[in-house]
Amino acid sequence: MRVAVLGGGMQGCCCALALAARGARVTIYDRNDRLLSRAAIANEGKIHLGYMYANDPSLSTARTMMRGALSFGPFLARHLEIGIGSIAVSEPASYVVHRESQRDAAAVETYLESVHRLILEAACHKGASYFGRDFSRPPRRWSEAERAAAFDPAIAVAAFDSGEVAVNPVWLADALRERVRSDPAIETRLEHEVAAVEDSQDPVVNAKGPSGETRAAYDCVVNALWEGRLAVDATLGLGPKRPWLHRLKYGVSFRLPKGVANPPSATFVSGPFGEVVTYPDGLIYLTWYPVCLAEISSDVTPPAWPTYPGEPQRTRLLTGTFQSMSTFVSALHGIDAADLTDVTVRGGAIVAWGATDIYDTSSELHRRYEIGVTTHGRYHSVDPGKLTMAPYFAQRLADRIFGDDEG
Ligand SMILES: Cc1cc2nc3c(=O)[nH]c(=O)nc-3n(C[C@H](O)[C@H](O)[C@H](O)COP(=O)(O)OP(=O)(O)OC[C@H]3O[C@@H](n4cnc5c(N)ncnc54)[C@H](O)[C@@H]3O)c2cc1C
Repeated sequence: MRVAVLGGGMQGCCCALALAARGARVTIYDRNDRLLSRAAIANEGKIHLGYMYANDPSLSTARTMMRGALSFGPFLARHLEIGIGSIAVSEPASYVVHRESQRDAAAVETYLESVHRLILEAACHKGASYFGRDFSRPPRRWSEAERAAAFDPAIAVAAFDSGEVAVNPVWLADALRERVRSDPAIETRLEHEVAAVEDSQDPVVNAKGPSGETRAAYDCVVNALWEGRLAVDATLGLGPKRPWLHRLKYGVSFRLPKGVANPPSATFVSGPFGEVVTYPDGLIYLTWYPVCLAEISSDVTPPAWPTYPGEPQRTRLLTGTFQSMSTFVSALHGIDAADLTDVTVRGGAIVAWGATDIYDTSSELHRRYEIGVTTHGRYHSVDPGKLTMAPYFAQRLADRIFGDDEG
């Protein structure tokens, strides 16, 4: 079985590994000169258990995310041949209700408890594991004193422990890149821009590489192009039938000056807020939606947004994000952004169904469960929706191609 995987991000690399493990010969196409160089490294690595999606009270998004989250560690451990405990995860996040939250503290508390009950059920499934963590205790509401020590309590009106962690995306990208490189069943065609897929007897991939145009036929083609996915689907007449948004979002990572205590990992809900992700080695990642959301496009092909912004945008993103969050995150208060070290500002596209931004409480962006693998004959298009879901959908794709998908 010869399979072309279009896109060498997190979804493409996971698909390639899952397919190669089943005996396929895989060719990955990517337009960049390196695998895992776009959204796959620009994100904060949160492996969502569903706590974030209080604006989807149907719990469908939470159910979807926890399915992905509980397969994420096992997939990596299996394919990278490492112990689940050696995956580089962050300090667990607390969920913090912002004063202007679209759901009040009582509604968030009820939602977190419901999600926790679902996680306990889902965690009983064979092979499920969330980085070996124990989930028996429900989210705990912080005391007023704890909240006032970590945040401005006038802004952070409630906080709850969650146990949810992030995986360091740079560690993850390095480990996957090396694993893919060393797999004899996977070939990579970097600097190849995929233009179209033709529906012939065998599906054909048309691409443009350093030495001109290429055409190659495969037994199956998998579209894992993320922001490039809709355009290539459209070349087969499979364009989207509903509105979508490509959003360019940035985040900043850094280390605090020596001797300064790190902030706790925290996710601010519900609405256009952001998060602090703190890793045990002192790396901190911040994103604050009003500053970090740089552009929105509803074109089939969004502009070629840069992963690393140029100046003066880079400095504006760094100082704007840091200053916004230091007004209510105590550990950041009083620190000058100029004193931070190991600073990186990175961003990428977020692709989702919907016509309006998350400021609108009824936006479809709050519901993220209509994602996954769509199959037309021997052409498969995979919308991961989130980094969290990529290993799960890769496994589903391999099951489908090799004929044991339960649907
Ligand atoms: C700032 C930010 C924060 C995020 N935070 C989280 C989070 O905490 N948790 C979470 O679960 N998700 C998060 N996400 C979403 C997550 O990053 C994405 O869902 C996921 O990375 C997308 O899949 P991917 O890695 O395969 O995409 P990408 O890494 O973008 O991979 C797609 C690849 O396709 C290539 N490509 C595209 N078009 C073409 C073409 N025509 N020809 C050839 N190659 C092409 C690109 O070069 C790229 O390498 C975040 C996203 C952003 C931007």
